[in-house]
Amino acid sequence: MEENDGDGLLEFYASEALTCPRRIYFRLKGYPERWPEFVRVRLNQGINTHNVLQEILSRRYGFELEKHLILRSERLGFEIHGRIDAIRDFPIEIKGKTSLPREPYDYHMAQLNIYMRWAEADYGYLYYVKLHEEPMKIISKIDFSGFPVVKGPNFRAFEVPYDGKMFRETLRHFYTVKRHYENDRLPPKRYSYACRFCPYKYLCYPEDGE
Ligand code: SF4
Repeated sequence: MEENDGDGLLEFYASEALTCPRRIYFRLKGYPERWPEFVRVRLNQGINTHNVLQEILSRRYGFELEKHLILRSERLGFEIHGRIDAIRDFPIEIKGKTSLPREPYDYHMAQLNIYMRWAEADYGYLYYVKLHEEPMKIISKIDFSGFPVVKGPNFRAFEVPYDGKMFRETLRHFYTVKRHYENDRLPPKRYSYACRFCPYKYLCYPEDGE
């Protein structure tokens, strides 16, 4: 894949890497999103957390923020767009969560992996930060002395090496969704905890209401 600004190709987002194919299909087909209220609250808290942490990465460590990337494949007929939270010689992806995972989620690693592929970086970092009304209360307790492996209560950092196999798997995943999209064939439901946070849950599980 190469970086380019071509048009006319199907656009996927790096944040969709290895996520529910049906959800991506609904977005591509333009179905309206209906976000549950609790997700909106979390999204706002997440934005605040990102902003505070990004500010530190930029001011203290010279990272570029919100770098836009496009990986394009004419042969596969799609592009992957992304916006990297923070990048210098390696990318950092920040995730605000209500509870911190013991291990990074596969689809977060797949997202970061796309950034590493684009930046030709051998490794990157996933930062999980506990969501809080006032993110500074969490972030002020972070110990940056071992940067980029920073530590703190309500905070977890993972160093992730680039994984070529996972990148190929990500391309296959997007390609499968593309085939469904072109053939107007709805991918099967893939029930997981992520359905709770999905803006298309009303289409998959109308009986649950909103
Ligand atoms: S509700 Fe679940 S299965 Fe349906 S599109 Fe969303 S994530 Fe996929």
